[in-house]
Amino acid sequence: MSLIVMKFGGSSVGSTERMQRVAKRIIKTKEAGNRVVVVVSAMGDTTDDLIDQSKQLNPNPPAREMDMLLTTGEQISVALLSMTIHQLGSQAVSYTGWQAGIVTEAVHAKARISDIKPNRIFNSLDEGNIVIVAGFQGMTEEGEITTLGRGGSDTTAVALAAAINADVCEIFTDVDGVYSTDPRVVKCARKLDSISYDEMLELAHLGAAVLHPRAVEYAKHNNVKLVVRSSFNENEGTTVKEEAVMEQGVVVSGIAFDKNVARISILGVEDVPGVLAKVFGELADNGIDVDIIVQSGVQEGKADFSFTLSSSDSDRAIQVIEGIRSEVPFRETTSETNLVKVSIVGAGMVSNPGVAAKMFEAISKLGVSIKMVSTSEIKCSCVIAADLLNDVVRSLHTAYGLDTAEQVFVGGPQDRR
Ligand code: ADP
Ligand code: ASP
Ligand code: MG
Repeated sequence: MSLIVMKFGGSSVGSTERMQRVAKRIIKTKEAGNRVVVVVSAMGDTTDDLIDQSKQLNPNPPAREMDMLLTTGEQISVALLSMTIHQLGSQAVSYTGWQAGIVTEAVHAKARISDIKPNRIFNSLDEGNIVIVAGFQGMTEEGEITTLGRGGSDTTAVALAAAINADVCEIFTDVDGVYSTDPRVVKCARKLDSISYDEMLELAHLGAAVLHPRAVEYAKHNNVKLVVRSSFNENEGTTVKEEAVMEQGVVVSGIAFDKNVARISILGVEDVPGVLAKVFGELADNGIDVDIIVQSGVQEGKADFSFTLSSSDSDRAIQVIEGIRSEVPFRETTSETNLVKVSIVGAGMVSNPGVAAKMFEAISKLGVSIKMVSTSEIKCSCVIAADLLNDVVRSLHTAYGLDTAEQVFVGGPQDRR
């Protein structure tokens, strides 16, 4: 008998018919002799719809109320899935995140899980139930409802798997596994049988939506066996593990992109020690994450620097910087949106010279200019204008020899995003 965590994303439970199919799959797993804990996301586009609705009433809703609202999506899913399982003759019980013992730090919209008290889950399993937990949510020690960031149900699943010492955590989604890039953009993307935690972590951080970055972090630190597979078929999927077998000659294993990028420049800054510490310290204190930072040469004691950040944080960042103008004098700030960050990832990059040069060449051949670059041992990222993103991704995919002859079947609705 195994203890299995099965997580189903929004598109997998996007309609009553899909909910029934998922329920049958869960029951089959239980009837094969396993103890099953299920994590579900909100149905289809529910979370996006709730956000749109809230913005019509208040363009800047309080973060607390937003979390109160968004957690309702997952509560609907768990209750409906449990009812469906009962209707099919099996025993199930649904829990909100807090009922399942998920405690988070006191941050709204992107809280980290600080503790899980799984007694109730174990009791329900012992009573013969399929346990269904609402993804993406938790509660602070003070009793405030929180969410874990967009796509956070993956993290709920992996964190629960670690807390209950599950044999495997299966992430069911609308594609067959982790591909060399988003198969919606590159139809000849190749499915990876396995990928290392480190490479997956980079891909997820760099925008590959298939797994939430914190879920991969949890899996790595707790050695959770993680499998990504389709809820629309029985195919094998991709295993995320410590060391994946590297294919001979494959230097770049994946390409990711992030469409949510803005660039802010601060021009004519007094070049005295402590300026960068002040600006970025202030941004950090306001919960704004900064990504690539570039400082250009100093002229007449004044410097210019630019940094990228999530486009949703751009306006707030400008406000924060304007707020410290008296302490850090500068001439002006500018901001640029409609940018994307495209990245190549591969554990083999460090020992192979010329990998980044090939990236720059492929991008420049399309007449696209590179605005910023950032590299590490296993990745190289370029910030470019958004317009030609798909062409750039396809051309990089070909340049690094990743194309396959097969066309990817994407199981979910093509019109989902
Ligand atoms: P779910 O609702 O199941 O959580 P997501 O939309 O969050 O699904 O994640 C699955 C989607 O991730 C796929 O439909 C695909 O478009 C996208 N994706 C991006 N990069 C990759 C990749 N490298 N491999 C597989 N899917 C990817
Ligand atoms: N429903 C949440 C979202 O859309 C969480 C998730 O799907 O993982 O972001
Ligand atoms: Mg997801």
